[in-house]
Amino acid sequence: MNTTPKLISLHGGHSGQYCNHARDLLEDIILRYIELGFTKVGITEHVPPINDKFLFPDEKKANLTAVDLAKRFENYFNELNALKNKYASKIKIFAGMETETCTGYADHINKLISRFQPDYIVGSVHHIDDIFFDYSKEEYNRAARVCGSYDAMYEKYFDLQYEMIKTLKPFVVGHFDLIRIYDEDYKKRLLLPEIDQKIKRNLTLIKSLNLVMDFNLRPLARGEKEPYITTSILKTAKKMEIRVVPGDDSHSVNEAGLHVDKAIEILKAHGFETQWPEPVLLT
Ligand SMILES: [Zn+2]
Ligand SMILES: [Zn+2]
Repeated sequence: MNTTPKLISLHGGHSGQYCNHARDLLEDIILRYIELGFTKVGITEHVPPINDKFLFPDEKKANLTAVDLAKRFENYFNELNALKNKYASKIKIFAGMETETCTGYADHINKLISRFQPDYIVGSVHHIDDIFFDYSKEEYNRAARVCGSYDAMYEKYFDLQYEMIKTLKPFVVGHFDLIRIYDEDYKKRLLLPEIDQKIKRNLTLIKSLNLVMDFNLRPLARGEKEPYITTSILKTAKKMEIRVVPGDDSHSVNEAGLHVDKAIEILKAHGFETQWPEPVLLT
């Protein structure tokens, strides 16, 4: 049996066609994965918002509405399923989507799942109290003010994540420690007892549901030192025998597959299994 780890990404493939903050055509992104030698890839576009209140700033600027984005999302699944068949002899595409945790998300996501029957979902938290905290440093600080402190914001984030994991059982838990995004002191903060205890609680839930953690490479694409998840959490995940799989979180052709080789090296060095699981729908 050939045990050389295969290139894979189970989170990414956002395209300019179906996402306002991404670039390029979905088909060109798929072609890039094939060119790089990927034999399996998960494509996980962002879900459309429940209503106009949750439009991303760039969508508002483009005068799009929630209705427009619902229609665009339908087109996304139609095209992705067509590309899945078109390139089936070259690459196995898993048709997925990346979820949100805005107010009312559970019903919204479950409706999208029954309508589009994705192969799997990536469960992510990008909002706290409906504030899109990873959009900018300003929004991040606003979320912290609403929560009362950075520490309280971290706690709130991991509580929201716990609820999301229980509710949606996403095969892949997206960028587990995204809450550190604009925080220079994140390494220390993640070790604070109140926060660490919530992290361990969430990891225990991930393990008990046999979910996979996204080893998210977007920070490396931005020039940062380490992926999500940070080394301390990665070590705990290894001790708990949780599966971790690379996700390029690509938003363009250039980013497709970027740093996946590096991610595999890091995972191997930590002793993780590199025969990747195939994603499935668990809800
Ligand atoms: Zn995105
Ligand atoms: Zn995300």
